[in-house]
Amino acid sequence: MSDARHCWKCHADYPAETVVCVRCGVNLVTGADLAPKEDAEDPGPRGLVEHIADLTPGLLRPVVWIPALLLALGGWGVIGLGVVLAQSGAVLSGLPVAALGLILYAQSVVWMITGQFWLLHSALVEFQGRHWTIFVLGVFGPGLALLLALKFLAGHAVE
Ligand SMILES: [Zn+2]
Repeated sequence: MSDARHCWKCHADYPAETVVCVRCGVNLVTGADLAPKEDAEDPGPRGLVEHIADLTPGLLRPVVWIPALLLALGGWGVIGLGVVLAQSGAVLSGLPVAALGLILYAQSVVWMITGQFWLLHSALVEFQGRHWTIFVLGVFGPGLALLLALKFLAGHAVE
């Protein structure tokens, strides 16, 4: 029985003339594993980049995210102007200005998400579910954080 073949993977024994293990696909002569790898879809760092590119292609395109960043800063500037106006008593002037700033900022978020210079309106029509999630988080996340920070600061200023 010294010329019988043994599979190193599943430990099955075969006659000497057997070439391939029928249970797991190991070549009994060379020892090569012929079975397809099951962990072939391990993402890894490259997978992560592709994931980001898939979710927010704008992040990987400087042509898009540089103008988007500038527009976002401009939008926040306009929002700040609106808040200052509203606080100085001109509430009716301040609110529309702040809303305009929010729209500018939302437009910049759209550019970041789509990676294209889509207009806000058409983008909202074309958006898929995951785009909406990122859009809402991207637009209202920083705004909410700012509001909470202001509330926190105001609360401490009162004491
Ligand atoms: Zn085997």
